[in-house]
Amino acid sequence: MKVLLAYPAIPETFWSFKYALKLIKKRAAHVPLGMLTVAAMLPKDWEVRLVDMNVEPLSDQDLRWADMVWVGAMVIQKASVREVIARTRAMGKPLVAGGPLFTSTPEDFPEVDHMVLNEAEITLPLFLRDLAAGKLQRIYTSTEKPDVAMTPLPRWDLLNMKHYASMSVQYSRGCPFDCEFCDIVHLNGRRPRVKANEQMLREFDVLYNLGWRGRLFIVDDNFIGNKVKAKSFLRTLIPWQEARKFPFGLYTESSVNLAQDEELMLLMSQAGFDSVFLGLETPAEECLAECGKHQNRSIDLAEAVRTIQRNGMEVMGGFIIGFDNDPANIFERQIKFIQNAGVVKAMIGLLQAIPGTRLYQRLQKEGRLLDDCSGDNCDGSMNFIPKMDLEVVKQGYHDVLQNLYSPREYYFRVLEFLKNYKPRRPTLARVGWLEIRAFLSSILYLGILDKWSGKIYYWRMLFKAFFFHRQCFGEAITQMIIGYHFRKLLGK
Ligand code: SF4
Repeated sequence: MKVLLAYPAIPETFWSFKYALKLIKKRAAHVPLGMLTVAAMLPKDWEVRLVDMNVEPLSDQDLRWADMVWVGAMVIQKASVREVIARTRAMGKPLVAGGPLFTSTPEDFPEVDHMVLNEAEITLPLFLRDLAAGKLQRIYTSTEKPDVAMTPLPRWDLLNMKHYASMSVQYSRGCPFDCEFCDIVHLNGRRPRVKANEQMLREFDVLYNLGWRGRLFIVDDNFIGNKVKAKSFLRTLIPWQEARKFPFGLYTESSVNLAQDEELMLLMSQAGFDSVFLGLETPAEECLAECGKHQNRSIDLAEAVRTIQRNGMEVMGGFIIGFDNDPANIFERQIKFIQNAGVVKAMIGLLQAIPGTRLYQRLQKEGRLLDDCSGDNCDGSMNFIPKMDLEVVKQGYHDVLQNLYSPREYYFRVLEFLKNYKPRRPTLARVGWLEIRAFLSSILYLGILDKWSGKIYYWRMLFKAFFFHRQCFGEAITQMIIGYHFRKLLGK
């Protein structure tokens, strides 16, 4: 059997980092880890080919080669998924689909021959059993949550690593919290399931032996969902990283209560974590109560950000506008909070109701749902009727983005961050050819070719970073390159 795994393209978004990738000569920020994991679960005698449409086009030759085409996607990849479906059908090849998009809305894809939904560890063996018996069903689904300690090593060998800015591994699935807008609980459950420490080290070993050096994303829903187990894993990871002189710079996603656990922050920074994404959402307490994000209510959010920065990790933050309880001045309050806390990479988006979430169900009951959810909460669209006038929300959101990513505000935030940031190791210690090339590209694109306003702030920032924050000089360059991506994305 010849199987083609097609991973659809992700549109230009905040997190695609398309413009920053150009400066470091990479094609995609992240790898399709779900597809690599599914590939590892297929029978050993099958021929498997992966086409990640974020790094290379899907050719007719690939489609002709395959006996069967598999597509896996998130909601944000919907447009590209439609292309894969149309081309596969035109070739008359059987199509199998899985992943969050199809799990949330299987009814939207009547053209797909077979759907392997929810978690593949449970549903894929059922599909393979029926395939062997010649009696395939259309949908394979299960609410059972598998033990991820049984998950095989992903097939990283299917990738051309040089196209990616970062590799990915997964340590856990699920999150103990239950925020109203989040689909994690629906997809992965509230009881965090973790891999065994040795299993994780094997994954690290494979990446290391394949020659990967650099960024490694631990793509968990909430890395600290089970703090006891996370600490145990970190204690085994620290000597692994030390023995190899820290080949991987780690980052992950976590809930904000990380800031309340000194030991956990220390272990993470000792293990080589240098940044973490937090769902900060909003400084408006009434909105946190509305969406059930109680873990963010019992803590001073700005101080939590600074505490994590002081512990050697940058905080990337997710923020939301569009809650029912948003006060009229939410736009100014979001800007003020983000600037003061020094959250350089602030992913601020409009609230979207993702199918399967409690929010979706509530809005459906209230008769407020509109179109399809785009899956990109930064594209300025809303798929429900907000309490605040929609035009006011959209204009306010647009103004917030323009303000936050103007060179003046952006570089101010970088400096606020650098004042607080205490990296465990000087960022210059990690300089290689890739970093030198990125630095030279930053001089060309930001210091020479950029608009006047951008150029002035770039050189000013460069000198300040060199003279006052030399420990974090590499980090400062990275932040400037990423700022370039955000500005280009916003057409600034
Ligand atoms: S803490 Fe994060 S992952 Fe967990 S339910 Fe809330 S938004 Fe989702």
